[in-house]
Amino acid sequence: MPQRALVASRTAVFSESVIREMTRLSFLHGAINLAQGYPDFPAPGFVKRAAIEAIEADVNQYAITWGDPRLRTAIADKMRGHYGLDVDPEREVTVTCGATEAMMAAMLAFVEPGDEVIVFEPFYENYVPDAAMSGATLKYVTLRGLDFVFDPDELRAAFGPRTKAIIVNSPNNPSGKVFDREELGQIAALCQEFDCLCFTDEIYEHILFDDHQHLPMSTLPGMYDRTVTVGGLSKTFSVTGWRLGYVVAPPHLSEAVRKVHDFLTVGAPAPLQQAGAVALEQGEAYYPELRSMYQGKRDRLLIALREAGFICHKPEGAYYVMADFGDLGFDGDDTAFALNLIERAGVAPVPGSSFYNNQEAGSRFVRFTFSKSDETLAEAARRLASL
Ligand code: GLN
Repeated sequence: MPQRALVASRTAVFSESVIREMTRLSFLHGAINLAQGYPDFPAPGFVKRAAIEAIEADVNQYAITWGDPRLRTAIADKMRGHYGLDVDPEREVTVTCGATEAMMAAMLAFVEPGDEVIVFEPFYENYVPDAAMSGATLKYVTLRGLDFVFDPDELRAAFGPRTKAIIVNSPNNPSGKVFDREELGQIAALCQEFDCLCFTDEIYEHILFDDHQHLPMSTLPGMYDRTVTVGGLSKTFSVTGWRLGYVVAPPHLSEAVRKVHDFLTVGAPAPLQQAGAVALEQGEAYYPELRSMYQGKRDRLLIALREAGFICHKPEGAYYVMADFGDLGFDGDDTAFALNLIERAGVAPVPGSSFYNNQEAGSRFVRFTFSKSDETLAEAARRLASL
């Protein structure tokens, strides 16, 4: 009988999530999980109560596919209040099952086999399967040095006639970089010159430190019409398991995303969308609190890592630190270091190379998250001190 390939070739280009694999190993060894970025502390009470009320009020059936109108309105109001963007909740906002679905739906809606999509490395692992499943080829631009900056000439060289889009994730996972106006301006100019789209991942927009500000790409001159903004509630309201994300894009782009979203998932959980609306409606009072809470956690983990001998850039946003272990005298690569740390010290990070195409560039890094309670971080610090 002729041998037939049962598995589609598109699945061959990516492997299981390294981040979730580290979580699994962390549990196995009873380690502290500073690998996967999710909070181990409760979500805000007002958000939880709103979800309970929605279920008790029997909001249990499908919501409108594009998202509950109250949630879409709350998202549009946030975009206006925070960034001065005039967004039409009827035609320009789509609620998805997390930012993960939002990004996948955007890629499937706009990228054809043979197209090229540019991504900065280190990158969040999802963009590789997103590209593979939409048939795109990723082109990588490396953020270099402890400040994670790109070389403008290298960026320009990545653009070409086949470029369909660039992915910009700011505040950035895993580097903690917040792209500034000048950097975003350079990217925006190239998007316009090469007539391509920008997919943004702004899931960490409210987790910012010191005086760093988040600037959405869609607010830059000439960019609204070619930007697909991805955001969500997971990180801001500590509800990563609720799967509430969204896409904001002009009507001609939103239409295509909505078609894909409809047949991928139909819609996000209806009662949780109600709670999401309540969360965003009361967000302005909550964001400063969130910001200072995470700044304290960042500082706590940075001190522990530096005292243990890691070299780290001070994250400007998001909730991760890329830590260089080159000075610790470990003889082995990042994966061996991560496994060793789990088994010997009982603290789980993510190997740095999983955030790079050029594995070599990540081989001295491991990523830690500080999205954990102060008690968890104190225990991690105690364990790291034993290194
Ligand atoms: N965004 C989170 C992280 O980077 C969770 C990722 C995941 O579960 N793959 O850790």
